[in-house]
Amino acid sequence: MAQMMSGGCACRAIRYECEADPVFMLNCHCRDCQKANGSAFAAILAVPVAAVRLSGETRYYRVVGDSGHPVDRGFCQACGSQVTIKIGRRPDVLGLQAGCLDDPSVYRPTKDLFTSSAQSWDPMDRTLKKDPKDP
Ligand SMILES: [Zn+2]
Ligand SMILES: [Zn+2]
Repeated sequence: MAQMMSGGCACRAIRYECEADPVFMLNCHCRDCQKANGSAFAAILAVPVAAVRLSGETRYYRVVGDSGHPVDRGFCQACGSQVTIKIGRRPDVLGLQAGCLDDPSVYRPTKDLFTSSAQSWDPMDRTLKKDPKDP
C-alpha cells in the first residue's frame, strides 16, 4: 500500500497530503533550482498529480528550466517557502520539495541531476547515479 505523506510551507498556510508512492526522487543541481531554493540543490520527489490534495494558496511563477522546458514553481506568498514544482513535460506528476515534508526522512534520492552545475562546496553522495544534464 502506498504511504501517506503530508507537508506544507513554513508558516502552514499551504498544506498537502498525498497517498502515493513517489514516481521519482532526485537532487537537482541546476542553476534555477539553486536560485529558487537559495542553496546548492533542490531535493525533489515527484508524485502522481491526482494523488495530491493541496490546501491554501500556492502562487506560481514560470521559468524555462535548464532542460529548455517550462517549470512552474509554487511558493507560499506569506512565508516564501518553495513547496511545489510543475514540470512542463511531465504534467502527470507534481514535484514536491522534500524539505517541506512533515517527515523528510521518507525522501530517498536515486540520482543527482544537472551535476554539470553542481557547486564545489556541495559534497554529493558518491553512491548516487549522476546525470550531468537532463537525460
Ligand atoms: Zn507559508
Ligand atoms: Zn533543477
